[in-house]
Amino acid sequence: MERVYNFSAGPSMLPLPVLEKAQKEFVNYAQSGMSVMELSHRSALFTDIIVEAETLLRELMSIPENYKVLFVQGGASTQFSMIPMNLLVNSKKADYVHTGSWSKKAMAEAKKIGDIRIVASSEDKNFSYIPTLQSDMFDPEADYVHITTNNTIEGTKFSSIPDTGRVPLVADMSSNILSEQIDVSQFGLIYAGAQKNIGPAGLTVVIIREDLIGKADANCPTMLNYKTHSDKQSLYNTPPTYGIYIAKLVFEWLKELGGIAAMEKINREKAKILYDFLDESKLFSSPIEKNSRSLMNIPFVAPTEELNAKFIKEAKAVGLETLKGHRSVGGMRASIYNAMPTEGVKALVNFMKEFEKNNL
Ligand code: PMP
Repeated sequence: MERVYNFSAGPSMLPLPVLEKAQKEFVNYAQSGMSVMELSHRSALFTDIIVEAETLLRELMSIPENYKVLFVQGGASTQFSMIPMNLLVNSKKADYVHTGSWSKKAMAEAKKIGDIRIVASSEDKNFSYIPTLQSDMFDPEADYVHITTNNTIEGTKFSSIPDTGRVPLVADMSSNILSEQIDVSQFGLIYAGAQKNIGPAGLTVVIIREDLIGKADANCPTMLNYKTHSDKQSLYNTPPTYGIYIAKLVFEWLKELGGIAAMEKINREKAKILYDFLDESKLFSSPIEKNSRSLMNIPFVAPTEELNAKFIKEAKAVGLETLKGHRSVGGMRASIYNAMPTEGVKALVNFMKEFEKNNL
């Protein structure tokens, strides 16, 4: 069986050279006679892996020295709780920008801990755009401002990062981390589940400015306190060792490709191929405002539910998989993360053209 083009929103495609390298090293890693999964997390070989993973990520994202990189577990969803538990400590107020299902879930957790205000929302138009934000909209007393830089389900992304002044900006970058260049120093905290652009599910990356660590209440559970992971270089307990190893391979792959600048260029080209077609198609359309469109998750619809279902079924039959939109929005969604080759997007557009011809 050939590998398919997998348009899943996550877990999603990993670069083939990464999978092949992991396969080669699977049973016997670096002449240890063991798989990485069988290595002690305190062994010299694993220490090299985790140190290298962090070094590569710092290099790729130009992470300043006053930021810590933490490899934790629990997915981005656990960060929805950890962030307020660790950061809602002064005014106990935070501003959230509401741009979709994930920001809603993030807010629901934060509300259990403090006073949460929706500073802007795009709910009025089905989350099809990113609201315009001005610095004077934010509460200067807030402990932080939270944004979701890319909305995986709705298919929107922030095209510029809001200026929150001295209030730390916290960003859920689960679905666009490493896909385009960002300036880490604009953020107090960045978090992302690994299962899109980093590696396998089970690993979560947190990049946090040092002055935001160590503020949690004494009652904060040990594992939910950023200080625990920061003090022990993500080795307080057993970290997701295999996930960290695959992430290291992904970072090596990305570096070899030319880093994030080169990746962003490819991502923009890939997305343009699909958006250009959607904008001229007589059958398919994009529900997202042009200047808010995601480079990673591209929702689209045909005129009827029957045609949507037919499209998904026929696409699968030619090796274009997992194109069904999220159950909350319907239609189709093509997730084209870093590992999706340009050929995959071209194959999808060619198939869409063919489908349009046959169904108009
Ligand atoms: N935030 C965003 C933007 C996401 O896309 C997802 C998952 N798709 C999550 C949070 C939740 O992540 P997890 O499943 O790792 O908890």
